[in-house]
Amino acid sequence: MGYDIERFIGYVNDGLLCCICRDVLENPVQAPCEHAFCTSCIHGWLIQNHNCPEDRQPLDISMLRPLFRYMRNDLNRLQIWCRNREHGCETICSLEAIDRHERECEYSRVPCSNAGCTAQVERRNLETHAAVCEYRSRECSDGCGYTILSVDDVQHNCIAELRTELELLRSEMICKVEEVRHEMESRLDSQRRHMVQKESLLQNEIEELKSQMSRVKSDMRTLVAEERQHRQELEQAELEKRELMELLKSLHKDTRAAAGEGNSKKHTNGRPLLRLESIKRKPREVTVI
Ligand SMILES: [Zn+2]
Ligand SMILES: [Zn+2]
Ligand SMILES: [Zn+2]
Ligand SMILES: [Zn+2]
Ligand SMILES: [Zn+2]
Repeated sequence: MGYDIERFIGYVNDGLLCCICRDVLENPVQAPCEHAFCTSCIHGWLIQNHNCPEDRQPLDISMLRPLFRYMRNDLNRLQIWCRNREHGCETICSLEAIDRHERECEYSRVPCSNAGCTAQVERRNLETHAAVCEYRSRECSDGCGYTILSVDDVQHNCIAELRTELELLRSEMICKVEEVRHEMESRLDSQRRHMVQKESLLQNEIEELKSQMSRVKSDMRTLVAEERQHRQELEQAELEKRELMELLKSLHKDTRAAAGEGNSKKHTNGRPLLRLESIKRKPREVTVI
């Protein structure tokens, strides 16, 4: 959209008007047919059409060129009122400079910078508004540390604010403690279960070892008994051996004596054999443990 022709001082050449909006060219471009347009006007037109709106000659965006230099100069020299004229700005300047002026114009409306405030005020009134803006804030002078919005200023009560905060913190704490407790409990529980399992395993092992132990003990006892019996048998055998030796010795003596006497053979032979019989018959002592 171009500049409203009413804002200009003096005569404006028809050649400086946009062929589409009929206002004074804004960011102008021209077609090969030399018709000139505001950039936004011709871009809008070319979305649906592919020709010049004046003479219908073929046209697309790539064919658009800057305006002739002499026309740009004429355009830039036009004198124009500030768009805030109706609000009181009396500035008139060249079209070339009007954008810069309007960006800084004291009569332009700008948004208040306080968060939450939707007021739009003229730049020159910004300070006055800031002083009364309901969304201005200050730090509480009583030291509670809160930033108070102007709208809440009268109701601000340090103690109530702090109490609310405290309550909030407390409930958060309780939640956290509860969470931690829960986790600890579940961890303990699983450990306890683990321990119980371990304990029963150990108990089984102990039982097993005990029964092994008792088996070993009874084996030991049997072995000891056998050992004792062997020893007694050995002693018995030793005794028998010694008696046999003695018998053998006395037998030799008798034989030698008989050889000397020559006739008493029957008589001397009878005694040692009887003794041998008596040893054989001697009952064996059996030890029972
Ligand atoms: Zn236009
Ligand atoms: Zn044309
Ligand atoms: Zn102005
Ligand atoms: Zn405000
Ligand atoms: Zn306070």
